[in-house]
Amino acid sequence: MTSAPETLRAPLVVEFPFTRSLGPVQSAFLTGLRERVPLGVRTEAGRILVPPVEYDPETAAELRELVEVGATGTVTTWAWNPEPRPGQPLDTPFAWVLVRLDGADTALLHALDAPGPDAVRTGMRVRIRWAAERHGAITDIACFEPSQDGTAGAGEAGDAGAPRTHDGVFDAPVTGIVAPARLDYTYSPGRAQTAYLQALTEQRTVGERCPSCAKVYVPPRGACPTCGVATTDRVEVGPRGTVTTYCIVNIKAKNLDIEVPYVYAHIALDGAGLALHGRIGGIPYDQVRMGLRVEPVWTEGGRYPDHYRPSGEPDADYDTYKELL
Ligand SMILES: [Zn+2]
Repeated sequence: MTSAPETLRAPLVVEFPFTRSLGPVQSAFLTGLRERVPLGVRTEAGRILVPPVEYDPETAAELRELVEVGATGTVTTWAWNPEPRPGQPLDTPFAWVLVRLDGADTALLHALDAPGPDAVRTGMRVRIRWAAERHGAITDIACFEPSQDGTAGAGEAGDAGAPRTHDGVFDAPVTGIVAPARLDYTYSPGRAQTAYLQALTEQRTVGERCPSCAKVYVPPRGACPTCGVATTDRVEVGPRGTVTTYCIVNIKAKNLDIEVPYVYAHIALDGAGLALHGRIGGIPYDQVRMGLRVEPVWTEGGRYPDHYRPSGEPDADYDTYKELL
């Protein structure tokens, strides 16, 4: 008996800058933060929404009436964050809080600087700690901090029962923001795909057969989605296969060093119960066809076939792959 090979794990980062323009309401809100003026928007029913939105969540009416609310507020709920991650508002443990600013009817999500979870409670009074340098972003609020004022409604906005209307006009308004998005994973492909990836390092392709319907999945996912049972019977497929369908790519992809036009195809490897994707090379793009027999081409150090090229065999009969389209 041999022990099961260890499942692969690797870091996976998905990262992109999200650029968005701001409408009049978000522009006023973020420019207001830069000027240390917290703004909300009044709905048709008279509720004050902070953070503000452009359209009434109940009636869908356009909302434009801005009001100034307090820089102090009340925690409505919270969760302790014991291990801050890079890019979060504070680099020491803190609480994520929803804060209803004085004068507002809804709550804003932000961080609360507190020594520990014992120092945080729903209903506690907090105030904005402004960032030293402000540029018109939610991070202009560095975080919230506990406030000793004790009474709801005693914010800097004055009488919180009647928030002051604000014209939302500032010099040099912020009209757009770039919000960096980053997702950090430790990715594990699982038992079945680990075996698939390890076989690829030997330039072999393995799938798994469903014990119920006998379909061979390539790449294997560990289970048959049709029968709902685990696939355990490992089978080697290919290396040759049949083009079942294809498309001609005419748009050059960024960071991809392939001249257009080229052909990207569904290829049913011999013995596989479904087709996988691959680029077709070694043949003019306008001569690629359904039924074309192909074989993989590996490049030095490649972790998967660079592309597939014609194997020189006669085309496959349609009946042999019509179930694999
Ligand atoms: Zn099955």
